[in-house]
Amino acid sequence: MPSIYLDHAATTPMVEEALIAMTAQLARLGNPSSLHTHGRATRKTLEDAREVIAKEVGCLPSEVIFTASGTEANNTALKGLYWQGRDNGRHVVVISAIEHHAIVDPAHWLQEHEGAEVIAIPVNTDGVIELEFLKELVAARGNEIAVISVMHANNETGVIQPVRAVVEIAGDIPVHTDAVQSFKKTPLSFNELGVYAMSLSAHKIGGPLGIGALILRRTIEIPALLHGGGQEREIRSGTLNAPSIVGFAAAAHSKYYDAKQVAALRDSFIAGLVTHIPDATINGLASDRLPGIVNVTFPGTQSDTLLLLMDGQKVSCSTGSACSAGVHEASHVLLAMGHTHVTAQSSLRFSFGATSTYADCDYAVSVLPDVITRGRAANLS
Ligand code: PLP
Repeated sequence: MPSIYLDHAATTPMVEEALIAMTAQLARLGNPSSLHTHGRATRKTLEDAREVIAKEVGCLPSEVIFTASGTEANNTALKGLYWQGRDNGRHVVVISAIEHHAIVDPAHWLQEHEGAEVIAIPVNTDGVIELEFLKELVAARGNEIAVISVMHANNETGVIQPVRAVVEIAGDIPVHTDAVQSFKKTPLSFNELGVYAMSLSAHKIGGPLGIGALILRRTIEIPALLHGGGQEREIRSGTLNAPSIVGFAAAAHSKYYDAKQVAALRDSFIAGLVTHIPDATINGLASDRLPGIVNVTFPGTQSDTLLLLMDGQKVSCSTGSACSAGVHEASHVLLAMGHTHVTAQSSLRFSFGATSTYADCDYAVSVLPDVITRGRAANLS
């Protein structure tokens, strides 16, 4: 029985370039903050990596702040921009209703502990934020808003958001975008978007786990979450993780994947799926989407049962949403798109990456009818 991985949006295999670069760096000695030859050599390697990432993402090297994850980049940006705004009498945090928990949870933390008022921008049934809502909000309360955070593409549905339009509406209100799922999969330029801050994560693009970056405009200084040696513009202290950063840069510089090919693979998967299971519906189908993510609702089923049945057939996929103490919650993303709790909990996410093949998709489609039949039977019992 084959073993098929269709969960590339969770994490994806490292690309060879990243493995080679990172392994070589692991054997090298030197703290990049040390002034001696060993330290300076590591510093030079890191500054080269920073330049590579800056070039790939369309920003200045000094705008790249390395973090330990996309989660840390999101927390640093949202909290930092909020605190900076609050110093100027602004206390409102605006996020979209479909943000990843690495934005939703810090926003709610700011509300509970730091006096923020959090307002969520709703989305339409296609999973795209309502720009009119934002326009009216900015017109009415613009001078109270400290930060607006709208993700570049959603991790559950792949739906791409109109971030450039958000920036235009925001005027001089700082905008942050979580581009963790978008980087290397759809055109992305920090400068062209005009945002103040943007989050990236290496393990979604064939780099190592546990390394990310906050891209932050050179002219913006925000309060730090971590204090210590003053690295990374004093915004993120801590000795830089040279091997992971080198791996991140190698992945960023690699082709990672051909978006057209991955989109064709995805479309063939969707065609096979709806042929075998005619009442399945694809969430966000009408929208501009990332090539590699498909979110499907299978009426009359429970997502976690389906996930385990698929796993039993050696296909790894995802429910897309979080588990709390082992219990699968209805996805806030699907709920925001108009799903009920029942239909939101009948959905699976399949995501494709550089190593995905047509044979993988065909196999997954071939086992789905039996999985869905068994999932429906289990749901009735
Ligand atoms: N933001 C989005 C949209 C994500 O999909 C993820 C990871 O799933 C993150 C943030 C968190 O990134 P990391 O795993 O590097 O903490």
